[in-house]
Amino acid sequence: MGIATVNPATGETIKTFEPESPSSIATKLAIAQEAFEQYCQTSMEQRAEWLNAAAEIVERDRVKFGELMTTEMGKPLKSAIAEAQKCALVCRYYAEHAAEFLADVPASTDATQSFVRYQPLGVILAVMPWNFPFWQVFRFAAPALMAGNVGLLKHASNVPQCALAIEQIFAEAGFPEGVFQTLLIGADQVEPVIQDPRVKAATLTGSELAGAALAAAAGTQIKKTVLELGGSDPFIVLESADLEAAATTGVTARMLNNGQSCIAAKRFIVVDAVADEFQQRLLEKFQALKVGDPMVEDTDIGPLATPGILRDLDQQVKACIEQGAKVLIGGHPLSDRAGNFYPPTILTDFPPGTPADNEEFFGPVALLFRVPDIDAAIKLANSTVFGLGASAWTTNEEQIPRLIDELEAGAVFINGLVKSDPRLPFGGIKRSGYGRELSIQGIHEFVNIKTVWVK
Ligand code: NAP
Repeated sequence: MGIATVNPATGETIKTFEPESPSSIATKLAIAQEAFEQYCQTSMEQRAEWLNAAAEIVERDRVKFGELMTTEMGKPLKSAIAEAQKCALVCRYYAEHAAEFLADVPASTDATQSFVRYQPLGVILAVMPWNFPFWQVFRFAAPALMAGNVGLLKHASNVPQCALAIEQIFAEAGFPEGVFQTLLIGADQVEPVIQDPRVKAATLTGSELAGAALAAAAGTQIKKTVLELGGSDPFIVLESADLEAAATTGVTARMLNNGQSCIAAKRFIVVDAVADEFQQRLLEKFQALKVGDPMVEDTDIGPLATPGILRDLDQQVKACIEQGAKVLIGGHPLSDRAGNFYPPTILTDFPPGTPADNEEFFGPVALLFRVPDIDAAIKLANSTVFGLGASAWTTNEEQIPRLIDELEAGAVFINGLVKSDPRLPFGGIKRSGYGRELSIQGIHEFVNIKTVWVK
């Protein structure tokens, strides 16, 4: 598939785009570099004014942008509108806090004056996924632009109109020409862009394969990358947990974005003492979910974003079942309609060696594991190659420090949903990637942390 808007609820191709030519890419790179040379001289106050204007626009037109996201990638309209709103939040957060995060930091040394100064790097390439087509871009752009960098966006090929809309938002907000540009290019056109000397660093949110390819290409030119990759996040339920709250949050955590979220709860790890009861509650809540047209108000689960994702998920589930896993609900695509629909599914009783051990299931499929105790729960949680966000449920105060210390993840949430919040850093360890977005750590990724020493 080329660069196109294809409605995942119907399969209809709505609009196609020609990938940009090498000369169009070269022109945009030149514009970006020229823009940086002026833009890095602008004041923090001025940048904050433009970013606050962007917040106003994305908030004002949140329904329009929500409809665009839903049309291109299928998430329920209400969560698409909420996503647009969250973009306004991250813009306002960095507009308010960037000056403080990037202020000089004095240090006492043998110099008369020594301090750290944060300076922008230049043109930053952002390679982004379709699953949160606005949020992923804004959480990169807000800190990067406040720091004085300029952005070049290579968005996923199935959300080109979101990519163009975001470029338009920053232009309308008043950012000078070239400070934020969209490149409509395929994955095969990324390598020469990251290797261009005017591009100073890159960030990628997406799959391991894409992250490894981008980091390898950047590495040949000694350029920094931030990688936000996949996950197979654990959702641990221990004896003393509030089971109703855990099951309710567990459904949200698994089904967010039609199950296509990096930080979705993918593996439910439940101790034997409460496993039957938790399973029953989860099952009842899955049975109550409405699958259908994502534009309709009461739809809980829309289609998967592309036929390829549906096919991959179907193959993973089939492989588990063929090897002996048990299906509690769902288990095969909804073939009674057009579009990429897959029903809420729970699999359990896995023999060793199924895809549930180490693969990310990117869709509405919960993998339920039973374990004897907290030791086994932590061991199983840590047994995958990923380490993004872990959620653990207990009211036993003695267990909480162990979960915080021993879970191998970029984030641990106790008795809550793993979520991103501008005030807290976000990112993973192991094959979930490296580097952080959001909060003070996020704005420090793409700056020169300059040491200054004056005798
Ligand atoms: P993907 O195929 O890796 O695509 C992501 C982006 O990378 C797209 O813009 C894609 O372009 C581009 N891309 C693909 N292959 C590339 C290559 N070899 N070189 C350069 N760019 C390349 O990811 P996806 O399957 O669409 O997205 C889902 C994945 O993203 C999941 O694994 C999910 O967990 C992860 N994710 C992680 C986070 C996080 O913050 N950690 C957040 C959201 C999603 P094309 O569309 O043109 O192929």
